[in-house]
Amino acid sequence: MTVAVLGAGLQGCCTALALAERGIDVVLFERAGAVLSRTAIANEGKIHLGWMYAADPSLATARTMMRGALAFAPFLERYLGIEAARLPTSFPAAYVVHRDSQHSVAEVGGYFAAMHDLLRTASAARPHAYFGRDVAAPVRRWSDAELDAAFDPRHVAAVFDTPEVAIDPVDLARRLGAVIATHPRIEIRLGHEVTAADDGSVATVAEGRTRREPFAAIVNALWESRLAIDATAGIGAGRPWLYRLKYGVGFKWPAGLPRPPSATIVSGPFGEVVSYPDATTYLTWYPSCVTEMSSEMQPPYWPASPEGAAGRSMVAGTVDGLAAIVRALAPIRGAELDGLWIKGGPIVAWGNTDIDDPRSELHNRYDIGVHSQGGYHSIDPGKLTMAPLFAEVCASRIAQGGGQ
Ligand SMILES: Cc1cc2nc3c(=O)[nH]c(=O)nc-3n(C[C@H](O)[C@H](O)[C@H](O)COP(=O)(O)OP(=O)(O)OC[C@H]3O[C@@H](n4cnc5c(N)ncnc54)[C@H](O)[C@@H]3O)c2cc1C
Repeated sequence: MTVAVLGAGLQGCCTALALAERGIDVVLFERAGAVLSRTAIANEGKIHLGWMYAADPSLATARTMMRGALAFAPFLERYLGIEAARLPTSFPAAYVVHRDSQHSVAEVGGYFAAMHDLLRTASAARPHAYFGRDVAAPVRRWSDAELDAAFDPRHVAAVFDTPEVAIDPVDLARRLGAVIATHPRIEIRLGHEVTAADDGSVATVAEGRTRREPFAAIVNALWESRLAIDATAGIGAGRPWLYRLKYGVGFKWPAGLPRPPSATIVSGPFGEVVSYPDATTYLTWYPSCVTEMSSEMQPPYWPASPEGAAGRSMVAGTVDGLAAIVRALAPIRGAELDGLWIKGGPIVAWGNTDIDDPRSELHNRYDIGVHSQGGYHSIDPGKLTMAPLFAEVCASRIAQGGGQ
């Protein structure tokens, strides 16, 4: 049997590999000229354990993220032969509660205590599944002196250590892309735009030629085009959604300057710093880096990098926004940054109001996953974190001949 996988992002590539390793032939369709060239490599690579989602006190999002995060490194070990503890990861993130946070320090502290209990249970069977790290260690709140040394207390009310790390998505894409490209059961068709699908066939356009082909099963892993192609299969979302175009800025930290901590500022339209041991540094600041929104069925084809003046002002706004909070960033304000890049992509989520609305659905991410109807499977990864887990779920379902 041959299965069509639509979209060669992280979700599509992981699913293609999980299917191929179960002895199933795969045709992987991708409209770009390369696999893993869009959102899969335009993100900060944080493998979310759930710390970010204090706005979901039901803990449903935390439970979902934890399952994905604890399955991430084992997937890479199983299919790419990478020993989890050897994969390059960032310094673990400190969670920084902003004084304008949508949740008080007490609320965030209570949420983190509940998170810690959940993580202890979730990781008990495989204590080192998360990149060889101990995720069950108690959460530590920084002293006032520690906070004051690293952050501006006029903006920061509290800081908590967490074990959460990021992987370098470009490095991961290189390793995964190499395995996909040489796998005997995976045929990659680049430059193929998927225009429609149902539970038995896929329609594509390539070099102006339209073609519809039959397949035993179809997996829709198209991220920003997923809902539009689901609609051609007669499957409606049944609720509002929002696409947000978000960018991030990367560079090599200047030699000789003290490094910033990895820091995630919660809860609201703030930002993050991701610091890697090799001096790679990633910054994102919501007010400067989120530039477009759409609730169309198919959002515009947004550029992966902003051009000219727009890019320059995004870098300046991001550095300035974060430097007001993170002391280590102050010396790089206005400085020439070595190896500077700006990359971005759409974030797809349920909801119709932005992150500054505390009740926005954007603050939770549990209603995601593999939706199957006969031989048609549509995967909403919600986050990069979830892609390997959902690939396994989908491939197992198809291998067992099932839909639901
Ligand atoms: C700035 C930013 C930061 C983020 N940070 C994190 C983070 O720290 N942690 C985390 O877990 N998640 C993060 N995310 C979310 C994460 O990147 C996405 O959830 C994930 O990458 C989406 O899945 P994907 O990799 O398969 O998507 P994509 O890479 O977009 O894959 C979809 C593929 O489908 C192709 N395609 C689309 N339409 C068609 C069509 N009609 N025909 C053929 N091919 C088509 C695209 O070209 C693309 O290659 C972030 C996202 C952004 C934008």
